[in-house]
Amino acid sequence: MESLRNIEPSAESSSEEELMDVRVKKEVQVIDKTERCLQILNHASKCQNPKCFAASCLRMKMIIDHSRQCGNRIECVACRQLLALCFHHASQCKEKQECKVTFCEYLRPIYIESLLNAI
Ligand SMILES: [Zn+2]
Ligand SMILES: [Zn+2]
Ligand SMILES: [Zn+2]
Repeated sequence: MESLRNIEPSAESSSEEELMDVRVKKEVQVIDKTERCLQILNHASKCQNPKCFAASCLRMKMIIDHSRQCGNRIECVACRQLLALCFHHASQCKEKQECKVTFCEYLRPIYIESLLNAI
């Protein structure tokens, strides 16, 4: 079956990609990445399984753990990235009751306040 695979025109898909505006492609990638990070954050915040198979979950839990006890969240790069992500979540959080996502309850009032200040 090796010969069949060689016949497949792999060049076609790459030329199709070239037609796409590079800038648009980059923007899509950024949105895609943020969405995925939000999903990981969402999962990791609620995941109780210490042996969770998702490697990204483990990494996110480590960052969350770090952030909870980090003394310098303002200057710490890891914390700032996590908080930015949590803030992003909080800004679109539809949870009416207490949200289990890390820092959401803490950040949501800040987000609402920033909206009020912007008016
Ligand atoms: Zn998990
Ligand atoms: Zn930190
Ligand atoms: Zn939330």
